[in-house]
Amino acid sequence: MYYEDAYLKEFDARVLKMMKIDDRYGVILDRTAFYPMGGGQPADTGVIKGKSGEIRVADVQMINGAVVHFASEIRGEIREGTEVRGAIDWDRRYALMRNHTAAHLVAEAVRRAADTPMPITGSAIDVDKARLDFAHKENLRPLLPEIERIANDVVKEDRIVVVKTMKREEAEKYVEKFHESLKILPPQVQEVRIVEIKDWHACACGGTHLKSTGEIGTIKVLKRVSKGKGVERIEFSAKES
Ligand SMILES: [Zn+2]
Repeated sequence: MYYEDAYLKEFDARVLKMMKIDDRYGVILDRTAFYPMGGGQPADTGVIKGKSGEIRVADVQMINGAVVHFASEIRGEIREGTEVRGAIDWDRRYALMRNHTAAHLVAEAVRRAADTPMPITGSAIDVDKARLDFAHKENLRPLLPEIERIANDVVKEDRIVVVKTMKREEAEKYVEKFHESLKILPPQVQEVRIVEIKDWHACACGGTHLKSTGEIGTIKVLKRVSKGKGVERIEFSAKES
């Protein structure tokens, strides 16, 4: 459900399976709005409440194609086959969405400021900030003001963010227009989810995003770090404006 509606905060579901893995309880539901860790975006947290018990979800993982909600304890009892209500910690998720959409903007802003295509070698989205690593031999520090300006111009334009799924071949051609490639996707991936900042940038992404760039607020570039071996790291944050 997080793919159909990234703004879904609460939902009803049925418990398919309860399990214990090491010292944690795992819950599989027939549907969920909880985002499992992946693609540089952390898992959601929140609560799952049943008639006779509830769990506080501390971690969510995709395991063999199933979204597993993990908790360290169950209050009361949650039984397989029963109805439950899930609620994600919305403030946290929304902060992650703002930093994730900001990350797509910054990735493209860095390339435009440097005027060269730059492969991304790593990324991490967090609640209060995000970072991107670029394979690039020159110090990006002198470009930071320009990167921030380009990114915030696109925030102000309030461009819509479009998510679509395409066959790999079509997706390859589509992102090429935006100087992106699908090289890092495993070859078995044949359906590709594309996140596009309308007419400005598009790339493959499995994360949850804002409806439009204006919701970011303001992007503040925090710092540049040299990771050595021709890798430049940029840290930034989406702030309320
Ligand atoms: Zn992404």
